[in-house]
Amino acid sequence: MSEPRVLLEISDLKKHYPVRSGILRRAVGTVHAVDGVSFTVGVGETLGLVGESGCGKSTVARSILRLIEPTGGSIRLNGKDITHLGKAELRPNRRSMQIIFQDPFASLNPRMTAGDIVGEPLSVHGLAAGRKKRERVAELFQQVGLRADQMHNYPHQFSGGQRQRICIARALALGPDLIVCDEPVSALDVSIQAQVINLLIDLQRKHHFSYLFIAHDLAVVAHISHRVAVMYLGRVVELADKAELFGNPRHPYTQALLASVPVADPKAKRLAPMIEGDVPSPINPPSGCAFHTRCKYVMERCKLERPPLVAIDGQHQVACFLNGGTGRPA
Ligand code: SF4
Repeated sequence: MSEPRVLLEISDLKKHYPVRSGILRRAVGTVHAVDGVSFTVGVGETLGLVGESGCGKSTVARSILRLIEPTGGSIRLNGKDITHLGKAELRPNRRSMQIIFQDPFASLNPRMTAGDIVGEPLSVHGLAAGRKKRERVAELFQQVGLRADQMHNYPHQFSGGQRQRICIARALALGPDLIVCDEPVSALDVSIQAQVINLLIDLQRKHHFSYLFIAHDLAVVAHISHRVAVMYLGRVVELADKAELFGNPRHPYTQALLASVPVADPKAKRLAPMIEGDVPSPINPPSGCAFHTRCKYVMERCKLERPPLVAIDGQHQVACFLNGGTGRPA
């Protein structure tokens, strides 16, 4: 199968925050929230981004959407560098990129009807008004599995799953090329999660847009993604096709993450040890390989040098010195 055309290209993306202290608020350190992340997302593709809390997944998402300003690196959308565009220049590109947040209730204005919320982007971008707008909103409601007569209801009159459907309809309104989903089902009941995930998959098949899908639940990521990137302490440590990553994980961190997924069979053998300890602070990240403080295969070299993310087998990339840079012990 030929590879999809690249829609989004992230190169060496960095987001650092100064840590300030004292009356003069002097900078006393730096939080390395995102520290040199590179990946691409193809047209019609879903890239899953996984990792423990605090690894920088959401900061990557917000930097891509320019909701926060990156410290370094570049973001190219449809071949255009949007990293440093001003507000006015960024505006047309904003139509191409939308986001769905984790908490649908917090991301919906409680004083607006669902119809006004979904129709707002159409008004802001001057795309539709009056009857045309109402018809478009009704069509969007129908696409996400809501009834057109629910347009007049307020967010509190919907269930959690329905509220997330409103957020999805709002994200669809402008016909985006890319939708960033930041933990979109984490706040929902398990029974509702599958419905929302399947809706996202159906919509992608129909409209052929791309997703950057952020989640900590590996089962959810495995279900929706085409490729998966694993992040640890602000960096991507492994990136591969979904089947390859879940079937043949090479980085010790990926192996530990997969081994920590609960299995229903108590007699089932685990392939790798559970991960131990907490993620180190991004204010003072460990030298060399950031995972070396938790890695059972750590070598002297790992404490001194940062392993680069390199392709080891086709599209499979890993950042680990083990076994000649291919990950996994020989
Ligand atoms: Fe472990 Fe070293 Fe590989 Fe890092 S580079 S994951 S410390 S073996």
